[in-house]
Parts: sequence; structure tokens; C-alpha cells
Amino acid sequence: MRPVVRYAFIVALGLLSIGFGSAFASHAYVGYHWSYSNPAYHIDGSLYNLNMVDGSNPATLTNGGAGKWNGFSNFYLHLQDGSWGYYGSESLPSSIAGETHTYVYPFTQTIYNTITHLNVNLRWAAYDCTSCSPRIFNLDWVATHESGHWVMLEDITDTSSVMHYLYYSGYASVDSHSKQTVRSIYG
Ligand SMILES: [Zn+2]
Ligand SMILES: [Zn+2]
Repeated sequence: MRPVVRYAFIVALGLLSIGFGSAFASHAYVGYHWSYSNPAYHIDGSLYNLNMVDGSNPATLTNGGAGKWNGFSNFYLHLQDGSWGYYGSESLPSSIAGETHTYVYPFTQTIYNTITHLNVNLRWAAYDCTSCSPRIFNLDWVATHESGHWVMLEDITDTSSVMHYLYYSGYASVDSHSKQTVRSIYG
């Protein structure tokens, strides 16, 4: 079965000043969803290959980002050893901070597996440094955004949303419109 791959977000590199505006009025939902509301993931060993310049634990930051999608609806994304879906790392082009692969059954349109890869070629930390060279990326932000694809929200152009398609420091929390969409899917 063919996975749906979302190149979850592209490194902005200053493009944000161009101003994309809010072309989409509401938060996009792809239409696929889990048949149950409590998908589990594990941390793949490859996640520890990320270059954490501040010495922070990549699993701690990733679990924190995933957990931000819990608590406001019946959706519950949780850590479980031995589960199929996972967060890990991969060598990706420098323009891509992370990507999420979603595997969907063709007839029911339900998700049966999701994998998130963070770019092993970038510098990461628990904070963002756009003036650093090379730039430092906030893993908390990226993990939160990628976890939105587990739900399964789409990349959008609303700059006030964590699902904004470009790396956008400062929006590491789940915005109210994203919460509304999750509630509409999972109750
Ligand atoms: Zn994305
Ligand atoms: Zn990948």
C-alpha cells in the first residue's frame, strides 16, 4: 500500500518575511483518521542520532510535542514500547526539517501506521536560533507540528497555527483551531 508522505515542513530560511497571509480560512483536515482514538508510537533508536547541540534528550522533547495533542478531546497519542508507529531520524534534504509518513487502508481510509522522521543533518535543541550558523531548530516545535500530522491535520498557510507549513518559531503550542478540528474528528 502506498504511504501518504507529508514533507511536514520546509525550512523557512527567511522566506517568512514575504508574508503568505492566511489563504486558507480554516484548518485543513485530510480526511484520513485512525479507526480508534488512541494510536501508540515508540521512539526508534535512530532518533538519538539527532545532533542536539544543547545536550537535551531528543526523546523527551519528542514525547512532549506528541503529548500536546492530548487532553482536549478523546484523541490520545501515547508512547508504548513495541508499537508499530515511531519517531526517528533520517537523512533529508536541508530544506526539510521533518516528514511524516502515513499509511492508510485503501477502502476504509483509516490509518494503520504513521512514522515521523526528523532530519539528522540539521542542528537541534530545545530552543530556536535563527541567527546561529548553521541554524538551530527547536525540536519541541517540530515534534508538535509533526504530531499534528498523526491526527491527521494538513499543512496550512495560517501563520498563527502550529500546522503552518514553514518552520515558524514561537508557535510550539497547539492552537485553538487545531483543537477544534481534532474534536470534530475524534469527539
Ligand atoms: Zn507539516
Ligand atoms: Zn522518512
